Amino acid sequence: MQYVNSVLDLIGNTPLVRLGRTLDLPDAAADAPLVLAKVEYLNPGGSVKDRIATRMIEAAEASGELQPGGTIVEPTSGNTGVGLAMVAQQKGYKCIFVCPDKVSVDKRNVLKAYGAEVVVCPTAVAPEHPDSYYNVSDRLASQPGAWKPNQYANPHNPRSHYETTGPEIWAQTEGRITHFVCGMGTGGTISGVGRYLKEQNPDVQVIGADPAGSVYSGGTGRPYLVEGVGEDFWPDTYDRTVADRVIEVSDADSFAFTRRLAREEALLVGGSCGMAAWAARQVAQELAAEGRTDAVVVVLLPDSGRGYLTKIFNDEWLAQYGFATGDQEDHRTVGEV
Ligand code: PMP
Repeated sequence: MQYVNSVLDLIGNTPLVRLGRTLDLPDAAADAPLVLAKVEYLNPGGSVKDRIATRMIEAAEASGELQPGGTIVEPTSGNTGVGLAMVAQQKGYKCIFVCPDKVSVDKRNVLKAYGAEVVVCPTAVAPEHPDSYYNVSDRLASQPGAWKPNQYANPHNPRSHYETTGPEIWAQTEGRITHFVCGMGTGGTISGVGRYLKEQNPDVQVIGADPAGSVYSGGTGRPYLVEGVGEDFWPDTYDRTVADRVIEVSDADSFAFTRRLAREEALLVGGSCGMAAWAARQVAQELAAEGRTDAVVVVLLPDSGRGYLTKIFNDEWLAQYGFATGDQEDHRTVGEV
């Protein structure tokens, strides 16, 4: 018989899927560069964050910070919550999640479905404000028996990517990866994967994708709508030495490209995936222009589009913010009917 004892055994080992027509490469470059998407929504909790959830909880159990019957409290945009809720439920812990009000209702309901409690806080306040989601979670985490994983400072966040995501990408590409493209929230993914890949081959280029307005691309934290990426402060989990380059992506490009990934690659993924893949397309087009036929670009797609059906995949929501759907004929090549 073939089975696993728990869904937790299904975390990681996600596949690489080749991107095609959305790259808009000239015919001469159709076979190269190779652009491969690491599809993290195939994790059982639906996102890349299952990886850090497991690692952070196991480390806290080992250190004694998390005791049997304890409560996990975390500010999260949803995906880390799902990962933690899933692992916690299987291991018998209670969970309380604190998230900003811009996080979709769908995402909040997913957390509740796993049995977690959700507290919603305003996005439009400074991190030091008492109602900010950082401060509310600190207050909850000071209760007896509570443990805060703190994905923004927990070294097991980047370490999980150093130990799993990075080695998987290296093995799957047989060491031929030349460029790694990734969005940045806590910075855990890019820091862990980037460090691992550079240790294998220092020539691997690590490229961050960032929403226009976020600190990683020189912004001040000005609001943007894409969820899960970009910051208004520098998290401890972000290794400032790892990215060779950061590509700034507008909400409009992120959302239009997210829609294209669903319509043209059959990849129903979230907005931060559209953002990262738009940056990867930019990199691929540059490499094609340079004739770099050896290039192998891997872009990490963190989550599924299912959590954004009422937003990115809702024409009225997009129109309300003045964004194009990306579905129009405007990206078709000339002469195509
Ligand atoms: N995309 C989404 C949808 C996320 O939830 C996150 C995590 N905040 C990221 C990207 C960024 O990953 P990381 O925190 O590892 O930088």
